[in-house]
Amino acid sequence: MRAKVLLLLFFVSFIAFAQKKHVCISVDDLPVVDYGSYDTVVQQRIMDNLIASLKKNKVPAIGFVNETKIYNYVNKPMPFQIHLLEKWLDNGMMLGNHTFSHPDYNTESFKAYTHDILKGEIISKALLRKHGQKKKYFRHPYLHVGTTKARADSLAHFLTEHGYITAPITINSEDYAFAYAYYKAKQRKDAALMKRVVADYLAYIDQDIKHFEKESIGLFGRPMSQVVLLHASMLNSEYMNDIIAIFRRNGYDFQPIDKVLKDPAYKTPVTVYGTFGSSWLDRWALSLNKRGNFLMGTPEPPAYVKQLLNE
Ligand SMILES: [Zn+2]
Repeated sequence: MRAKVLLLLFFVSFIAFAQKKHVCISVDDLPVVDYGSYDTVVQQRIMDNLIASLKKNKVPAIGFVNETKIYNYVNKPMPFQIHLLEKWLDNGMMLGNHTFSHPDYNTESFKAYTHDILKGEIISKALLRKHGQKKKYFRHPYLHVGTTKARADSLAHFLTEHGYITAPITINSEDYAFAYAYYKAKQRKDAALMKRVVADYLAYIDQDIKHFEKESIGLFGRPMSQVVLLHASMLNSEYMNDIIAIFRRNGYDFQPIDKVLKDPAYKTPVTVYGTFGSSWLDRWALSLNKRGNFLMGTPEPPAYVKQLLNE
């Protein structure tokens, strides 16, 4: 009897081990997030480090661009910024539209918002064509898709009409808070604080993966193929190898966005709207009328990190 139980346990763990979970890494606010420092050496380093880690680990990521960052103060595209995007594409990464100027659909008019979407594809369109990328992906700034069904439907309709595929995220992260704390600590040359932010950030990523995996199992009875939201920050560029390793330790492999979105879970309708910018797992949970435990326990950055965000 005991032997049978052990054998069964062996098989269960073998299957769990053999069945890889999948994640797509998405990186928002390309070319880079540098808090307006305009230092091309820093910008190049962020892009180079991101690409080096992704390539070394064979991770096919997608980046979402705000083309406003490409233009200078006299409204001319800057070749250096285009070169950063070219480098991203040359190394096999994908590119999507994150609007021109990162407007908030919670407050922006439909007309102005959709105008910003089209303005945001002018340069990328040519780059995508050059690199043979046919599919157009869109990521909503702040993950705001529309506060009402009517607002959300009209935007979804607009995106479909213009050939866009919405790129939802399931593993939401507040990586931007840690990234800003890290940037501040670096500016102050505070090595101890930098170290503390990194340690807390990597622990946070691990908890975050586990949290949204649990939510996925609660909703769909299995770990769905996830899309994680990260930003093109100095912090992520320096620690992408560690982030990738944490995903691997949690049993994930890395897939391009088109493969991950084939998971039927993404077909779950969203029927609840509001001002929130959350994981699609939370939206599906609300839409399936699963509340309480489902929406509890999302990991949060520590208080000192949030405080630095307000300084
Ligand atoms: Zn963004």
